[in-house]
Amino acid sequence: MSMNDPILLLVEDDPAVRRFLRTSLPPQGYQLIEAETGREGLTLAAQYLPDVVLLDLGLPDVDGVEVIVQLRAWSLVPILVISARELERQKIAALDAGADDYLTKPFGFGELLARVRVALRHAARRNEPTPSTFQAGPLEVDLAAHQVLLDGVEVHLTPIEHKLLAVLVRHAGRVVTHKQLHEAVWGPRPAGDPTSLRVYMMRLRRKLQRAGRLFTTETGVGYRLVEGDREERWPPG
Ligand code: CA
Repeated sequence: MSMNDPILLLVEDDPAVRRFLRTSLPPQGYQLIEAETGREGLTLAAQYLPDVVLLDLGLPDVDGVEVIVQLRAWSLVPILVISARELERQKIAALDAGADDYLTKPFGFGELLARVRVALRHAARRNEPTPSTFQAGPLEVDLAAHQVLLDGVEVHLTPIEHKLLAVLVRHAGRVVTHKQLHEAVWGPRPAGDPTSLRVYMMRLRRKLQRAGRLFTTETGVGYRLVEGDREERWPPG
């Protein structure tokens, strides 16, 4: 562990999880700061300005979603929610409140590291202009030109399918909730037909299925597009 290692703030009241991460994260090149309560987490976030926050949703003092709302009032730090399975609805509220991603307990350590790496890459690129192109295997997307190619052959998308793909591309590697997708396409108004999003996503998937497994369905939560090839090579060296 060195001073230049990214700082992860863990807000978690379960001592077993804290102990596990305290021993396993530093050898992977991360500094770990620990908080047992939501209030302590907010204080330490302001004090240490962590690179990523790992936030348990079931905290003894304040609701994890409230912690996200308070953090988001002043910070863009990536927030990875750690949620118990029975807190499914809270998890979705957490993502809609501005959390970047989530892990469900019990989670694998490899999965945690992968999510942290994605979060750090996205944070590092926040100040760069958003790239308008995306490539993953045989799929090439040019958002500005409204062009989608599979193995060099143009795929015709409807305007709605294109909007959905654009949102997923901008969040590549991270989960996008049903609500976020819905708002991106139809605006912030109540969903008319809850099945319509699923139908559009199914059509989009079918058109792109030759590209292989591009999306995962996050049951009850939303969808996740694979990370682009460009991101796999980042950072250089
Ligand atoms: Ca807990």
